[in-house]
Amino acid sequence: MPSIRERLAQDVAALRQALDLQQDEARSEVQTLLQTVLLVNRAYLLAHPERLLTEQEHSQYQTSLQRRLQGEPLAYILSEREFFGLNFKVTPATLIPRPDTELLVELALSRISSAGTRVLDLGTGSGAIALAIAHSRPDAKVTAVDASEAALSVAQENAGCLEISNVRFALSNWFAALAGLHFDLIVSNPPYIAANDRHLAQGDLRFEPVGALASGTDGLDDIRLIISEAGAHLVAGGWLMVEHGYDQSERVQTLLRSAGFENVRSDNDLAGIARVTGGQLLGKT
Ligand code: GLN
Repeated sequence: MPSIRERLAQDVAALRQALDLQQDEARSEVQTLLQTVLLVNRAYLLAHPERLLTEQEHSQYQTSLQRRLQGEPLAYILSEREFFGLNFKVTPATLIPRPDTELLVELALSRISSAGTRVLDLGTGSGAIALAIAHSRPDAKVTAVDASEAALSVAQENAGCLEISNVRFALSNWFAALAGLHFDLIVSNPPYIAANDRHLAQGDLRFEPVGALASGTDGLDDIRLIISEAGAHLVAGGWLMVEHGYDQSERVQTLLRSAGFENVRSDNDLAGIARVTGGQLLGKT
């Protein structure tokens, strides 16, 4: 059986070639796969490069590696992804939480001032946004909805594992099942990629639920719907914040202003790209 050192040397190169990854990325992914099979941390891998894999470990490792070489996202192979310092179960029924989306959580948290603030997360997927907010603010009352029953059950499982009890979940296509309910803050990372965007056929996106990624010819179908219906579910002074594509901030700002939102502004993600746009509904008609 091969050693840790041998596997690393061969498989980092194989992964780079198969998926066009950077050296560091490929190395980190092989290390993660080895750690998962050997049940050790990264320091152990570095300290024991001569350690041989047992036959069983090797076959388990090969199964994961082959899946990754076929392009399957690492998060789906491991069934987990870290987001906002918390560990989330993810399945192919849910979008994989992105580091960029932590911006939406931070902005949402900055708008929660008092205890009992009612927060709604539309299209919660794995529950990442709703649970990150609820974990940071146990005094907030968070509602999380998704149109996918499979996604919702992953989100509920995550709430259980993370022992977060201030989120309630509901099956709802955007606001459809929320008639008569009002919130202080509505957040969403909806699908926002144009249906014919070539990125949908690349990388991790090929394996993610297309319903969580693509939204009409300009990518804005769901954002338009959310903005037009949010007013009926916000209290006066309430905020709506949505994540969107790299070139959509101006169009989202226009949509918000046309729907009567004020204090409209966009904030940049880690790459310096306007990624979250929000506004406040002051007077209600
Ligand atoms: N930011 C993701 C991507 O482009 C898309 C997420 C989404 O559509 N909400 O990979």
